[in-house]
Amino acid sequence: MAEHLQSLRKRISDAEKRFGRNPGSVRLLAASKARSVEQIRRLAASGQWAFGENYLQEALDKMRELNDPRLEWHYIGQVQTRKIPHLASHFAWLQSLASQSVAEKLDRRREPELGPLQVCIQVNISDELGKGGCQPGEVEPLARLVAQLPNLRLRGIMVIPAPEPAMARQRTAFRRAREIHAELERAGFALDTLSMGMSADLEAAIAEGSTMVRIGTALFGPRRTGPREA
Ligand SMILES: *Cc1c(COP(=O)(O)O)cnc(C)c1O
Repeated sequence: MAEHLQSLRKRISDAEKRFGRNPGSVRLLAASKARSVEQIRRLAASGQWAFGENYLQEALDKMRELNDPRLEWHYIGQVQTRKIPHLASHFAWLQSLASQSVAEKLDRRREPELGPLQVCIQVNISDELGKGGCQPGEVEPLARLVAQLPNLRLRGIMVIPAPEPAMARQRTAFRRAREIHAELERAGFALDTLSMGMSADLEAAIAEGSTMVRIGTALFGPRRTGPREA
């Protein structure tokens, strides 16, 4: 595990160099769905603190068992209404915000004492039917709403493009995400997060300006269970 982490960090820093990015400008989020508490504990012991989870109950069980305030939990799965109170009270970040009504409910449920929930708007960048994220045209109105909510803090956008083997085509989708991010900044939003890039396409994402890659397989090895819908 420590070796995987080391070689992944090298892959990220090599990509930063190759594409003219500042060293250390890309954060690593460990996508830990279907990984054990023991695996998370080992990564944390090597200095990896940020973990992304897709399934609420699994995440809550892990949080309870690990009980470590140094860990930073990101929710990266699909949001369903019944999960909102738990998402608002147990996570530091929610990267999969896609609707105004969810934003308002999260804001109402977030205890101010916790500090604002850090939020990324998920954009359905490959326009895939049935996939998470809002349409590109819905991003700015949603950003305007989030900016007015006291218990949410807008950090940027998150995308999961359709899998694509060729790097040039991976870059095309990530470039569209970067353009949406840049439009928001031009509209006056202060953002610092462009969450994009997974095990198979992190170089393309970093080439196009990613500031946070979310990595599972390259860090933990192949998943035993396939990805499932929450
Ligand atoms: C599983 C997952 C990842 C990591 O994918 P890998 O290909 O295993 O690196 C990243 N983001 C989201 C939203 C995921 O669900």
